[in-house]
Amino acid sequence: TALLRLSGVGKRFANAVTALEGLDMDVRQGEFVSLLGPSGCGKSTALRLIAGLTEPSEGRLDWHEEETVRRVAEPRSIGFVFQEPTLMPWASVFGNVHLPLKLAGTSRREAEPAIAEALELVGLAGFRDAYPRELSGGMKMRVSIARALVTKPRLLLMDEPFAALDEITRFKLNNDLLEVWRRLGCTIVFVTHSVFESVYLSSRILVFRARPGRVSSELVIDPNQPRD
Ligand code: ADP
Ligand code: ADP
Repeated sequence: TALLRLSGVGKRFANAVTALEGLDMDVRQGEFVSLLGPSGCGKSTALRLIAGLTEPSEGRLDWHEEETVRRVAEPRSIGFVFQEPTLMPWASVFGNVHLPLKLAGTSRREAEPAIAEALELVGLAGFRDAYPRELSGGMKMRVSIARALVTKPRLLLMDEPFAALDEITRFKLNNDLLEVWRRLGCTIVFVTHSVFESVYLSSRILVFRARPGRVSSELVIDPNQPRD
């Protein structure tokens, strides 16, 4: 079933740049879908529209009825991971992962089990008292993923999260992300311009063309089953 459907979605910016035009796409429950395409073809814009960080200029986004109800009850049901880990340098790993729950009014003590669980998921259980400056790029990205997961979102949006990492670190993170996806059973929408990464990770790939927002082809690796 479709968790989310975009129909005829267009996005034009004030400077008259058209980032997306007539985009039709589904995000299905529990899938790991990649948006693949060259820079500038509107992948990030599509992700930001799904996140509700920006509004479409035309067309519509329809959430599955159940999801609409859930989103009213749990406004933090979406996790977002950017290419830059954007950690607070003055806060520990624990403090950084606490942030989304803190903004929701949950104290450190109340949030502790969820934070510990998120850190364990990304392999950082032993690093809660470390500070960002002590961590490698890959570990900072792990913190950023833990921060996105700490609210237990059902939908995880990732915008070229590993593009700045060296290949070995990137490959490790790819494997660990697959493990997280399997353990949580969440839905992931993953933006990349790496063909390898999209094929390795996803159950479905939507190929964006340089022509704004056109999904030129849809490469279905396995439409029904999670990968094993
Ligand atoms: P973004 O700002 O979307 O992250 P960049 O233009 O900064 O993209 O590119 C990041 C890296 O990916 C650069 O090394 C760039 O050469 C490479 N890259 C960009 N577009 C493509 C593409 N279509 N195919 C392969 N590599 C690309
Ligand atoms: P991608 O993620 O595929 O690299 P983007 O969605 O970031 O593509 O951008 C698509 C197009 O929209 C690009 O031409 C980009 O320069 C433009 N764009 C993105 N964000 C803005 C913005 N806030 N204002 C104006 N133009 C933008």
